[in-house]
This record gives sequence, structure tokens and C-alpha cells, in this order.
Amino acid sequence: MKGNHQTLVKRRLLVINVVIILTSIVGLFSILEVGRGVGFHESNIQHLGLTSQLKEKTGNLVGRSNKELDDIRDLLMEIRKEPQSCLDSRNLFLEFGLRLLNTQDIFTICETDTQVIQQALSLLPRYESGELSESEFLSQFKQLSDIMHGHSFQFRPLVSRTVDFLLIVAAIIIVLKGFAVAVISLISSRSILLQFQNVLNMERELRVTNEELNISIDVLEMQKGQLHQAQKSAEYNALHDTLTQLPNRRYLNQFLDTLFETDEKFALLHIDIDGFKQINDTRGHKAGDFVLERVAERLKSLEIDNSLIARVGGDEFVIVKVLSENEFRQSSFEKLAEKVVSIMATPVKYDGFDCRFSTSVGVAIYSEDRSDSKVSKEILADADLALYHIKMNGKNGYAVYNEDLRKQLTDKKLLADEIHLALEAEQFVPFFQPQFKSGSHELSGVEALVRWEHPKRGLLAPDKFLPVAEDMGVIGDIDRLVFESAYRKFKDWESIGINVPRLSVNISLNRLVDPKMMEQLEQHDLSHGRVSFELLESILLDGCDDELLSAISALTRMGIELELDDFGSGHASIIGLLELHPSRFKIDRQLIKAMCESPEQSALVKSIIGIGQSVNVEIIAEGVESLEQATLLNEYGCDYLQGYYFSKPLSNDDFIKFVRKYSHRQAA
Ligand code: C2E
Ligand code: CA
Ligand code: CA
Repeated sequence: MKGNHQTLVKRRLLVINVVIILTSIVGLFSILEVGRGVGFHESNIQHLGLTSQLKEKTGNLVGRSNKELDDIRDLLMEIRKEPQSCLDSRNLFLEFGLRLLNTQDIFTICETDTQVIQQALSLLPRYESGELSESEFLSQFKQLSDIMHGHSFQFRPLVSRTVDFLLIVAAIIIVLKGFAVAVISLISSRSILLQFQNVLNMERELRVTNEELNISIDVLEMQKGQLHQAQKSAEYNALHDTLTQLPNRRYLNQFLDTLFETDEKFALLHIDIDGFKQINDTRGHKAGDFVLERVAERLKSLEIDNSLIARVGGDEFVIVKVLSENEFRQSSFEKLAEKVVSIMATPVKYDGFDCRFSTSVGVAIYSEDRSDSKVSKEILADADLALYHIKMNGKNGYAVYNEDLRKQLTDKKLLADEIHLALEAEQFVPFFQPQFKSGSHELSGVEALVRWEHPKRGLLAPDKFLPVAEDMGVIGDIDRLVFESAYRKFKDWESIGINVPRLSVNISLNRLVDPKMMEQLEQHDLSHGRVSFELLESILLDGCDDELLSAISALTRMGIELELDDFGSGHASIIGLLELHPSRFKIDRQLIKAMCESPEQSALVKSIIGIGQSVNVEIIAEGVESLEQATLLNEYGCDYLQGYYFSKPLSNDDFIKFVRKYSHRQAA
């Protein structure tokens, strides 16, 4: 728009300038013409004067005076000069084309003039020679000088008209030029104004743009700030736990890496809340979160200097404590671990309930002379092993990592891996130990005891693998396998004429609380009441909760009998145990063993049997190794006997052989 306007103005100015130049040229020529015209005019006046003089002279002519005639001749010559010079410059005139003047008329006049003068000049010698009389000469001469004089009058209007015309042209040009200049200045001033306005507009636009830019800069600054903030919070989030705001595992790893660089000694405490899963399961996740927050607060409240507290997993925390030489020598980390355990002992109140939990702590120490734990992962793994160790050894305490521990635990780890494989390959099989009626020594039943048919190590007794299987939480799977297999065999015996009145299998807490157990048992008809589950007295002491009680009563409803194993070894109250309606107490073999050695132990066994009789619960004694024991137990009123005296636990084939032989002997 602006561009268009400018080119328009430019074009107009160009046209006007061209007009001015053209008019200037025309004006220049006009002025030259005017000058020429004025020149003509002047010479015409001179011509007029000279012709007047000539007239006068001829009028005063007296005779043929040489002097006067010469004067006249000179005058004529003088008069002739003008038109002659005019004619001489004719070509020049024509060349420059000063055609505005009526040059042709002027030249015609000049030509006639020179001819007339020539005639007059030729009259003079004729008069002098007397060829012409005075009167003839005068009349002819007068005629010619009149023509000459008259020419002056003809010439004058011609020139003045032209000059007038040229003056008008010049005036018009001047006016035109003035007008053009006015238009130019008008246009240019208008364009200047417009340009000025444009400049103003541009300035305004620039100001607006500047303001906008300022605003954009502000916005950018703000966004930069927000970005910075977002980046900062992202960094914070990446390194912190959202629930407790404690540093997370990533932070811990970075922290450990910097510690390794400084080569400082430090203790790493891996803290785990015992039974946290139970809080989560029974009280809900909100309670769990609440407990974790309180745990974090308690750890922070210890105000351990030169340390880092991090949350590295669900209920797992880590304290890294940098140790001074003194602290290292005095093993101050043990005190710290103790403190952590004791500070967690107070229950956390949530929603009116006390959430109780204990804490296990695994400790690993880093000092520069320990080249085996240079990497953060390794020191964490060491603390982990120590934690695992304490978890397996009663929890609610701490353990410090050392090489022996590693050895023990790596063996355990290997065993655990093997157990998994053994479960898949069904390498766990039942062995059978017969049980007998006390007085008659008739076969009364059989206890299934697990053995591991290890492909490399041969037959393994339960003490070699059951504790690890229990830690791993797979002991229930072993129980299931043993029960299924033993029960199958129990049924098979019937079909080959081997009569075994009862099958007892051991059952772990892990199996008992397995929700799938009932479903699996329901697949067999157990209503005949010939299957008994042996449950450790200590299990009942451990957690006699609703879940366990309902599982036991469900078993009873199904027709399964309950036997309390290792009876007399634990401290469970007999009244509490009776609530389970057990069918039998199985006296712990340690008591049977001690029976023949001391009368007190013997009395204890006797009284246990007495209690059983008084509450109408049958008694079985295990670990009977001698006839003496068997006889004594029979005297005391014990119902059943089991032990090496009769038979060791046997493989299925051996058991079948044993029963066949035994019944043969009995019959004989
Ligand atoms: P337990 O239930 O008290 O089983 C009796 C243990 O005493 C057996 O050891 C048996 O071999 C042993 N024994 C039997 N008579 C005598 C004797 O006269 N003298 C001596 N010194 N020992 C005798 P075993 O088979 O090594 O089993 C050890 C423990 O492993 C069992 O103790 C039981 O608690 C557990 N167990 C065995 N099989 C299973 C199973 O299938 N499931 C579960 N959960 N635990 C099992
Ligand atoms: Ca048992
Ligand atoms: Ca036992």
C-alpha cells in the first residue's frame, strides 16, 4: 500500500520534472527569440533613423555636390549593412531553426531592402554622370528612400508581434513552471507528510512490537522460570520418595558413589519392617502408608550426623552413616542398629488401632581395606544378606555382615534354587514310619515323613532342606506333594490287601493357611476319618488367629483328625489347645528319650498321659527306641507308640514288605 503510493508519487514527480525541463527548453528558446526580436527591433529603429537622415539629405541636396553625394552613398552603405548582415546570418538562423519569428517575412523584407538600396546606389553614378536629371534623380531616389523608410514600418509590427507572442509564451511558461513547482512541492510535501505519517505509524508499530516483545520476553522469562521449577521438581522427584519425601534408591546409589570416591568408612544399615505385609493386608494400604510415614519420621528423629536416610523399597529403608576413625573402632554402628530396632518397637496408632511391628536390620561396613565391596551394589547386597540372616533367625534385631555369613547364605541360596527345581521334578517323596497300639503292638497307623531324592546327594532328611523351604515359603508345596503321594499309596495298599488303619501327615502353617488347600483336599473323600494331620504345638503358639482356627475347623468338618505334634516341648496352654479339639497329643521324642534317664522326666510323661486321658484325647509317643520305653509308656496308659524300636521310616516298598512280614509274625 505504502509502496504503491510512493511509486505513484515518484511517477508523478518524474512527469512534472520532464514538463519543467521541456518548458525550460522552450522558455530558453523563447527568450533567445525575444532577444533576437529585441535586436531586430533596435536595428529597425536605427534603420528608421538612417532612412530619415537619407530623406533629409536628399531633400537638402544642392546640385551635384560630390560631398553630399558621397554622404548619401555612405549613408546608403550604412543602411545596407543591417539587412545584409541579416541575410548573411540567414543560414545560421535557419540552422538553429528559430522559426518562431516570422523569419521568412523578415528575410523577404531584407532582400527587398538590399535590392532597393542597390537601386538607389546605382542611381547615384547615373546622376553624377548626368544621365539622370536632378528632378528624375530626386523623384526616383525619393521613391526608393520612401520604400526603405516604409520597410522600417513594415518590420516593426512584425517583430513586436512576435516578441509579444514570445513574451506571452514565456509568461505562460513561467506560470506553468510556477504551477508545476507548486504541484511538485504540493505532491512532495504531501508525500513527505505521508512519509512522515508512515514514519509515525512505523514508530507506533515499533513501539507496539517492542511492547509485545517485552511481554513475550516476560512470558518467556516466566516460562523459563516455570521450566526451571519443573526441571527442579522433576529432579527432586527422580531422587525422592513421594510418600516419605526421603531420598530414594537412585539418590542412595549416587550418594554411595560419591562416598567411594572419598574412600571414607561408613556403615550401611538395611532396615526392613517385619510383618508389614500383614498390616497392609489386614488394615489396608492407607494404614500401611501411614506406618511407613511414621517409620520415616522415627528414623529422622534419630538425628544421626553425617548420614543419609533413604527409602529403597516398600517397607525397606537404608541408613548410610559415615564413620569417624573412633566410631569405626568402637563399632558404633551396632548401637545405631540397636537404636533403630528399639525405636520401632512402639506400635503406631492408626484409626484407633495399634499397628504393631518389629524391625530387622542388616548392617554392612565399608572401609578402604575392604577391597571386595567397592561397588555400591555389593555393599547393598552385603547388608541385604545380613538382613536376610536376621530375618531367618527370629527377626526383630540386627546382624552385621561377615564372610561366614556370606558362605552360609550362599549355600542356602543354592539350596533354595535346587528346592525349586526339586518341586517341579517331584523329588520330594514320602517315607513311612509305622505306629502301633501300645499294649498289643498291632499296626495302628503310619506317619508320612518327607525325603528328598536328591539326584546328586542321594536321599536327604528333612532337616537338610525343610528350614530353607520354610524360609522360601514353599514348605506348603512340599506338604501338598507329600500328602498327595502318601494318600495315593495309602489307597494302593488297600487294593493289595495291606490294611493300615490310619495315615498321618505333617502339615506346616504355610500349608494350613493356603486358601487353595481345602479345594485340593476336597478332591479326595476323607470322610472315613482315617487321615490325620500333625500340627506342631509351636505353630499354635505362634499365631493362634481366626484364620488358623477356621482352617482347622474346616479340616475337622471334612473328617480329618488333628494331632498335636511335639507335645510338651512348647509352652502353649493346654486349655487353648483343647479349643482345637485335637484327636491326639503326640509326646515329643525328647521327653521320651529322657524318660528312662530321669524319674522327673518320666513323671512328666506320665502326667501328660494323665491329662490326655482326663480330657479324652488319645496319646501317642514318638521316638520309642527300646522295649523298656514301650513297656513303661504302656504302663502309663499311652495309646500308641512310634519309634526306631519298631521301625525306622521306610520307603513305600520297604514299608509294604515290613507290614507283610510284621502281620505274619503277629499272626504266628
Ligand atoms: P516329626 O514330625 O517329629 O517326626 C518324627 C521325626 O523323628 C522323624 O524325623 C523321624 O525319623 C524321627 N524318629 C522317629 N523315630 C525315632 C526314634 O526312635 N529316634 C529318633 N532319634 N528319631 C526318630 P525326620 O523324618 O527327620 O523328620 C523330622 C521332622 O521334619 C519331623 O519331625 C517333622 O517335623 C518334619 N517333617 C517331616 N516330614 C514332613 C512333611 O512332610 N511336612 C512337614 N511340614 N514337616 C515334615
Ligand atoms: Ca510328625
Ligand atoms: Ca514330633
